[in-house]
Amino acid sequence: MLQKCEGIVIRTSDYGESNKIVTLYTREFGKLGVMARGAKKTNSRLSAVSQIFTYGYFLVQTGTGLGTLQQGEMISSMRLIREDIFKTGYASYIVELLDKGTDEKIRNPFLFELLNQTLNYINDDNDIDIITNIFEMKMLNVIGLYPVLNECAICGSKDGRFAFSMRENGLICHRCYEKDKYHLPTSQAAIKLLRLFYYFDLSRLGTISVKDDTKKELRKIISMYYDEYSGLHLKSKKFLDQIDKFRKML
Ligand SMILES: [Zn+2]
Repeated sequence: MLQKCEGIVIRTSDYGESNKIVTLYTREFGKLGVMARGAKKTNSRLSAVSQIFTYGYFLVQTGTGLGTLQQGEMISSMRLIREDIFKTGYASYIVELLDKGTDEKIRNPFLFELLNQTLNYINDDNDIDIITNIFEMKMLNVIGLYPVLNECAICGSKDGRFAFSMRENGLICHRCYEKDKYHLPTSQAAIKLLRLFYYFDLSRLGTISVKDDTKKELRKIISMYYDEYSGLHLKSKKFLDQIDKFRKML
């Protein structure tokens, strides 16, 4: 069956002399792998639309097994991401996290929208650390993780000071610090942002300015949480950590 869909290229790999296997994340069908015949040749009409991060409309022949990409119409090449090594690093992490965290052909228009907005924000020069943290927090439910962030994970209290506890899967209040002596001391600014990133709608993101120390805390907590609970091993994460160190030297 020939189907039209709106999607973003999240992974590509070479297949044989001239073909590519392209993984799309689509609004209509979720994740979809397709064969793009001839796409490795620069003069192919499929070569531009089968580049990583490309956002567009795709015409796909589906059936049993791998579908075939018949045609593509580019909406955005995400050129600014591609031309900047830092943006490329962050965006690569975003799409790999989405890829490893989802199964094929499970429709999730909300997630498509989130991916699309996230890549657009990175392309348009927003704070890429913060955008990435928001994406990570929003991916948690998708991969089946539900940290407790609206109250103390131990006593249920909603007021007081809070810290993050890996063991208790979320925030614990100052009255309960004793119950997990390995809790991570966390600034209240970081706590507020963790909650905000988890609950708020990304399309409402205005200008957000976060201190470097707070950013460091967020990165640490979110990374530790993923390491502890997600079971995902992402190649792009290592690269991200390296370029991040390099960026801070500039
Ligand atoms: Zn408590």
